[in-house]
Amino acid sequence: MDRKVNYQKELDKTIDKITREGVIPTLFLHSCCAPCSSYVLKYLSDYFKITIFYYNPNISPEDEYRERVREQIRLINEMPVKNKVEFMEGRYEPEVFYEMAKGMEDIPEGGERCFKCYELRLREAAVIAKDRGFDYFTTTLSISPLKNAAKLNEIGLKLEKEYNIKYLLSDFKKKEGYKQSVELSKEYNLYRQNYCGCAFSKREALLREETVNNSKK
Ligand code: SF4
Repeated sequence: MDRKVNYQKELDKTIDKITREGVIPTLFLHSCCAPCSSYVLKYLSDYFKITIFYYNPNISPEDEYRERVREQIRLINEMPVKNKVEFMEGRYEPEVFYEMAKGMEDIPEGGERCFKCYELRLREAAVIAKDRGFDYFTTTLSISPLKNAAKLNEIGLKLEKEYNIKYLLSDFKKKEGYKQSVELSKEYNLYRQNYCGCAFSKREALLREETVNNSKK
């Protein structure tokens, strides 16, 4: 899809349509972590019956993965929403992620490895959403300024065709979505990690920190 497409406007159109029709569709929402999902849940739960799908085999180490799952569940339990939100945890299978990332370990965050990582997670979401009869699937990932919304939507549309399940176009960082997610994370005292999720992004974050610390000396 064209990089200039305004994905927020596309989402607005879908929301207008379902509101006019008076329906509340089901949405299988892949989430990477509680902070990123906070704003998306607050925003979309007025219009959709959401099931949060936590499938993130990229996250390392396992303790970090478990902590993010706990925070996700806590947020769902604590945040008031119009339409009740359900939770489903996917398989934790880091070996699948490492196999996918082979040969791309040193590509900086935001490059090809990340695009494949988006697809790995979205594909699992599409397969399960189709299997369980959801109306739509999408992901919270576009809320991060570090994530490529055009690429996420391109992958989503590709999977929509492959599995015959509607992908909800979106760019959640718009309408101050990212800022609101930071505020909600403070409000619910959510654990906010300082790296994207995989061991490679953790290494990058440590290097960034070291560079900043050295420049202060
Ligand atoms: S940096 Fe983030 S998006 Fe990129 S491969 Fe690692 S976990 Fe996936």
